[in-house]
Amino acid sequence: MKLRRPILRGIRFTLTAVYTGLFTLMLLGVSLLFRQTLASNLEAQARDDLEQNWAILNAYLRIENDPPQRNYHPVWFFDIEDPEESSAAARVKNAYYIADPSGNRVEGSKVWDGLGSDPPAEVRRVLSSNQAQWREKKDASGVPYLIRGSYIVSEDKRVRYYVAIGTSRAESERLLSRFNLLSIGLIPFALLIGIATGWVFTGRALGPVLDIARAAQRISGSNLSLRLPSHGTGDELDYLIETFNQMIQRLEANFNQVRQFSTDVSHELRTPITVVRGQLEVALMTARNEEDFREAIVTSLSDIERLSQIVRALLLLSQAETGQRVLQKQRLNLCDLIENLVDQFQIPAEGADVYLRFERKSPSCEGDFDPIQIERMVSNLLTNAVKFTPAGGKIVVSVEGLGDKVEIVVRDTGQGIAPQYLPHIFDRFYRVPESGTPSPEKGLGLGLSFVAWIVRAHGGTLDAVSGLGKGTTFTIRLPLDPSAPTSPDDAVTTRVA
Ligand code: ADP
Repeated sequence: MKLRRPILRGIRFTLTAVYTGLFTLMLLGVSLLFRQTLASNLEAQARDDLEQNWAILNAYLRIENDPPQRNYHPVWFFDIEDPEESSAAARVKNAYYIADPSGNRVEGSKVWDGLGSDPPAEVRRVLSSNQAQWREKKDASGVPYLIRGSYIVSEDKRVRYYVAIGTSRAESERLLSRFNLLSIGLIPFALLIGIATGWVFTGRALGPVLDIARAAQRISGSNLSLRLPSHGTGDELDYLIETFNQMIQRLEANFNQVRQFSTDVSHELRTPITVVRGQLEVALMTARNEEDFREAIVTSLSDIERLSQIVRALLLLSQAETGQRVLQKQRLNLCDLIENLVDQFQIPAEGADVYLRFERKSPSCEGDFDPIQIERMVSNLLTNAVKFTPAGGKIVVSVEGLGDKVEIVVRDTGQGIAPQYLPHIFDRFYRVPESGTPSPEKGLGLGLSFVAWIVRAHGGTLDAVSGLGKGTTFTIRLPLDPSAPTSPDDAVTTRVA
């Protein structure tokens, strides 16, 4: 019993751990993706800025040859009075560098001096390429700059001058490192919330399982009426609760049956035992000669015979119902078997002045049945029919093949059974109270219980129709298929005629 908590705690822990692990991976993935997107957007933004600055530079900067004897030099053309032009030029000139075709510095901003002048090899590489060259450079304090290196052709189209502009990436770096800090700070926070919600939710989800476990612990033979309330959500746990309740219901029915059975047995055995005991005690005190003793012993023996009958019948029935007694099926012609049996009942029927007839409605009714049990089934029905049909009455037994089934009908014109007793006739030890039969003929109330078991064991159905003064009809249908499974309890029904 103590096992319950650790197991559930284990499930809760595992679920929370898996959930948290997935949550962590997802958070890390999302923040990495987000950081990547942010970094490439910032980079694209910086390139755009530099492209715009390059366009401005192209408009404002010319390489002039004046006088035309190889004296090339850069000249800036913009209206210093125009605030728009001068601020655009100032933006471009914040970080720029101009070198002649041999790589010598011609002009450059102060910021560029901090970055260090470009080596002549780099200048020549850019000058010989037709595309702008992008790279990154860091100043003395480690601030990164994005550099766009290209060239401007002189006015007379004879020389190319190396021109590079740059933009600081300090702001982008700051943004990215702030993002990193935020992620590092937020991820554990989000994780904590995730773990807490995961723990609470799994706890809540597993709550009904704990209820089931607790209820199962409380259940014993004396409180099997206990049922778990369903949540009404129709989810898997509701299904579990429903299944659990159905299981208890079946257990309760079985328990009640067993309880009822033992009560019935003790009740049934007590009466003959008391009678025998009384008879023997009286004989012991009052018998005067051998004849008196013999008489007492003979009477007691007949009661003891009844006792052993009860015990034998009970043993058979309990073996049958617990599955210890299995059917010994064999291929046989049911019509022949039953016809022979009806023949054997002609003598007792004549003795009771009852007309007994057999009707074979099909030429053959071959199938796999247990002959001993089928005989027991029909004899029990016939014994009752003869017993409960007054003189001058009629009993008809018919057998008919119906495709994959065979139908056996035992009909009598006897006293019938009152509607209030009819539903109980298949119960063990049940006898209709005012059946009026004299005591020596009184049955054990087990005959129809056997009939019901035999029909169900063959996978068939049984229907009893009766009414007071209207006779009784038992209709049995047995499948011909030898592998038919045992029928459920509701295969045996009763109806008022
Ligand atoms: P028993 O061994 O006492 O006959 P059964 O289980 O065979 O017990 O039958 C239960 C009760 O059903 C009987 O006591 C009887 O009252 C009633 N019963 C069974 N068969 C018939 C019948 N053909 N006609 C009238 N009553 C019947």
